[in-house]
Amino acid sequence: MISAKGYAAQTNTSDLAPWTFDRREPGPHDVQFDILYCGVCHSDLHQIRDDWFPGIFPMVPGHEIVGRVVKVGDKVTKFKAGDLAATGCLVDSCGHCDNCKHDLEQYCLEGATGTYNAHERDGKTPTYGGYSNTIVVKEEFVLRLADNADLPATAPLLCAGITTYSPLRHWKVGKGHKLAVLGLGGLGHMAVKFGVAFGADVTVLSTSPKKEADAKKLGAHNFVVTTDEAQVTAARGTFDFILDTVSAEHDFNMYLSLLKTNGTMICVGVPSNPASVSAFSLLGGRKSLAGSSIGGIKETQEMLDYCAANNIVSDIELINIKDIKHAYERMLKGDVRYRFVIDMATL
Ligand code: NAP
Ligand code: ZN
Repeated sequence: MISAKGYAAQTNTSDLAPWTFDRREPGPHDVQFDILYCGVCHSDLHQIRDDWFPGIFPMVPGHEIVGRVVKVGDKVTKFKAGDLAATGCLVDSCGHCDNCKHDLEQYCLEGATGTYNAHERDGKTPTYGGYSNTIVVKEEFVLRLADNADLPATAPLLCAGITTYSPLRHWKVGKGHKLAVLGLGGLGHMAVKFGVAFGADVTVLSTSPKKEADAKKLGAHNFVVTTDEAQVTAARGTFDFILDTVSAEHDFNMYLSLLKTNGTMICVGVPSNPASVSAFSLLGGRKSLAGSSIGGIKETQEMLDYCAANNIVSDIELINIKDIKHAYERMLKGDVRYRFVIDMATL
């Protein structure tokens, strides 16, 4: 066993604190890499607080992981010691269901294995995430990074990046489309960058008037303050797509009214409680309400390569792991500019 150190929540009410735990020695198909940076996703906070479902504790969160390979198993062909490596939200899946065969491991019909708050395929060994110094991952679930990658700013691509890239690609959002990005946080700011890169006309829908200048700097063409009734009224019926990245309860019916006829609202944000949607909000204008979860490994690599070729990274605040509680407090207030990334040297 490898003795790893990290930050864990011992229960769904405790703060993250230093914790030492075991990881498996790399098997023939495994890559061990030391973690240099890990992004802070709102899903980390949802999960240590049991917002969605009862979690597996102690829990070491973190699924935007970048680092450098220290050891590989005999059968590993794509990585060697010294290479950069990355892991996102998935570390395994069944590998044989229809979705896995079509590079959609995130929708594995037997349930994909999350990077943390999950069990390995044996059904009993807990997985521990990236708020730690080292990790062991099956080669197929390890992503490649360009040698000159800006590592801290690349880390958030592993979740915030792929979660917004994948639906925009799936629905072929681009030239001629009006895209609204709802919520300008970690996911939202990446959605703006991708939407603009794909040629869409991008509007940010935000509760924070102070983010307007940033939205424009990110490339957004328009900005609507969703607490301003006049601005919302003017935006009614104007969008082909809304990518909803909001982490807290919000009024789906109000946002659906902003879609054009045949428009689609895609949920990627996951508030703790179900939303109430009136059939009238959908049938008047033949609208669709859809969802999307992260992305498969092949598409995540494609997204990383696309970002490297087009100089796309995340806008980050690098933090000391000892300040994680404060970062979470700011995230809850919507004050993220636009992703916290932990410098693992501070562990
Ligand atoms: P984040 O950085 O905290 O951003 C969320 C943004 O939502 C905030 O910055 C804020 O933007 C807006 N917001 C917050 N409360 C709101 C409210 N009550 N009404 C309207 N807008 C509100 O979070 P994130 O890391 O981007 O994650 C966003 C959500 O996506 C979380 O629920 C997370 O769990 C989920 N997620 C899903 C997937 C997936 O695969 N589908 C993957 C990763 C994360 P403004 O200040 O602009 O209003
Ligand atoms: Zn995430």
